[in-house]
Amino acid sequence: MKTAIISGASRGIGRAIAISLAKEGYAVIVGYCDNKDKAQEVCDLIINDGGIAQAYQCDASKPSQVKAMVEYVKTKYSTVDVVVANAGIGAYGMLIDHSDETIAKVINTNLVGCITLCKEASKVMLSQKSGNIVTVSSMWGQVGGSCESVYSATKGGIISFSKALAKELALCGVRVNCVAPGFIDTEINNNLTQEEKDALIADIPLGRAGTPQDVADAVIWLTSEKAGYVTGQVISINGGLVI
Ligand code: NAD
Repeated sequence: MKTAIISGASRGIGRAIAISLAKEGYAVIVGYCDNKDKAQEVCDLIINDGGIAQAYQCDASKPSQVKAMVEYVKTKYSTVDVVVANAGIGAYGMLIDHSDETIAKVINTNLVGCITLCKEASKVMLSQKSGNIVTVSSMWGQVGGSCESVYSATKGGIISFSKALAKELALCGVRVNCVAPGFIDTEINNNLTQEEKDALIADIPLGRAGTPQDVADAVIWLTSEKAGYVTGQVISINGGLVI
């Protein structure tokens, strides 16, 4: 049984990735921070469709919890085949208005959380000499978003981290790739007014916001054998907004 761990999968992009990977035959571990009911809803949906899924509480910013989750999956299912480091939070506003606590929280959740999950997964993948890691960056990690400087820093860090790790693990049969979504209509953007969303969409060459499924489809391809010669890449899923 192939397994896939997705962090922050109780809603949004992570949810779509979990459901899509389950359709590909993976037993999926739906990582969640505090919304157990929502995570269980995702699992129920998958199970009712004939798949295998399990919700697992794991705060991405707590290394001990991340370690415990990967160890749990290794012990229960024997392998860790796919890991998607998806959990993330936004932080909007001028840098001068960010508290030290906010800065630390965003870095610990987005960047340290991603690095820790990849580290723990790598240990297992190195021993099994196979595996697929997908990290979730953002277009702001590619070009920087005004009033999202700390968020952009974490997402830029994820890009260079993913490229470096891809080089480190390639000869051991582990591929590492990164997706960089543009504007995807999920709860992370709840701080935007409809007017602001419309203005953003007006600038998108493909003329619409992205959907969680747009990102999930790219993850499915990256983790498939069809992408067997692809590693260390950043796949932009942004409707042409950032080229
Ligand atoms: P979302 O807010 O719906 O999902 C984020 C998920 O991460 C939620 O399930 C949340 O509970 C989880 N999470 C937050 N902190 C966590 C923690 N400490 N431990 C575990 N889980 C935690 O938004 P989304 O759009 O689905 O975001 C998913 C990823 O995509 C994030 O990394 C985000 O930065 C990235 N992204 C989103 C967009 C977009 O426009 N929606 C664009 C670029 C990148």
